[in-house]
Amino acid sequence: MAVKKNVVLLGATGSIGESTLTVLRHAREELELIGIAGNTRGERLAEIAREFDVRHAAIADESTYRDCVEAGTFPGTCRLSCGTEGITELASLPEADIVLVASSGTAGLRPTLAAIEAGKDIALANKEILVLAGKFVTTAAKAHDVRLLPVDSEHNALFQCLEGRRPEDVSRLVLTASGGAFVDWPLEDLKQVAPEDALRHPNWSMGRKITIDSATMANKGLEMIEAHWLFDIAPGRIEVVLHRQSIIHSLVEMVDGSILAQLSPPCMTFAIQHVLRYPHRAPGVRETLDFKRIHRLDLEPVCPDRYPCLGLARHALEAGGVAPAVFNTANEVAVETFLENRLSFLEIPGVIERTLEGFDNFEPGTLDDVLDLEFSIRRKASELVKTYAWKKTS
Ligand code: NDP
Ligand code: MG
Repeated sequence: MAVKKNVVLLGATGSIGESTLTVLRHAREELELIGIAGNTRGERLAEIAREFDVRHAAIADESTYRDCVEAGTFPGTCRLSCGTEGITELASLPEADIVLVASSGTAGLRPTLAAIEAGKDIALANKEILVLAGKFVTTAAKAHDVRLLPVDSEHNALFQCLEGRRPEDVSRLVLTASGGAFVDWPLEDLKQVAPEDALRHPNWSMGRKITIDSATMANKGLEMIEAHWLFDIAPGRIEVVLHRQSIIHSLVEMVDGSILAQLSPPCMTFAIQHVLRYPHRAPGVRETLDFKRIHRLDLEPVCPDRYPCLGLARHALEAGGVAPAVFNTANEVAVETFLENRLSFLEIPGVIERTLEGFDNFEPGTLDDVLDLEFSIRRKASELVKTYAWKKTS
């Protein structure tokens, strides 16, 4: 019989946050939501607090927090706090068993480390945290003997396939990639695409940033780096294959040539439920694959010219040190600028490449080294994107 777990959810108002709530609605006896955090959607966070009778909430954005306090948006039974400090406190609540980190960007880094130090298991959706500070997060998890349970569907698949295997029996990890919104578009047409085009993902419904990253495959690049840290595997043994249907979530090749895979429909509730209930299993909240229908499972090589961000990410992963952090921050700045219609889609990899070229790599000694660096990369990349001065012509 599974013991009831107390769950803290960072990024409750986002896409992964909403999928997590769907899982929790079907598991009220086994999983209790005791803490939630968001950034700007205060009203939605308060609705969640009411629906699940949550006792602790934190809002990163100060003005949203002030508005909520003034308007009395939250129920009186919910203690509301603010900023990184409030979220860090929430992530280390004494009664919490597991913290699901689904906030976007790197703001969740300190709260995640605090949760690890407080001995909480971590369900990690946010890949940026590992890309920026994988060394610090994985070292802390080992030192405090906490589990890092991957929510990202590819890594969740790898985790399931690797369970019970000996590391020396594994030869390769193969991440599947859908190809994103432009998988079949002529490259020439990508010069003038608008953010709305890139935001139309063929299979997955996700937040804006990750949907653009899927179209450029920067997301798969971040996921290679994420896999390196989660599974302690050399960069040369991580590969990517195009799989348009997003049903095979990833593959593990054993040394004898056998390949193991995990399959489910493209919906995040499968991975979320798996980690929240881990190591137990229970019926899922969404329909499984219907074998009365034909399903095609195509696996194709990735065309490097179509997805230069993937090559840049591999280069950063192999270089090590702070190169993955530079890749991540430069990509964040480029995507924000593209979403504001100030950078062409095809210029995103150029911004990353030029930012990477402008940095002398080093091995960070402390977390502050990484955070200081993130600040300076952001500044440099922001200066750089101004020089592009692109305007979409309609
Ligand atoms: P969304 O943009 O939909 O949601 C982001 C969430 O983070 C919101 O709750 C938002 O709050 C909160 N947030 C934003 N900035 C801050 C901040 N500075 N401090 C605290 N909270 C903040 O993103 P997704 O749900 O799509 O993705 C979340 C993470 O999960 C990302 O790291 C992504 O890479 C990863 N991921 C997502 C997948 C998906 O299917 N969506 C799949 C695999 C991984 P608010 O809305 O209140 O402003
Ligand atoms: Mg993924």
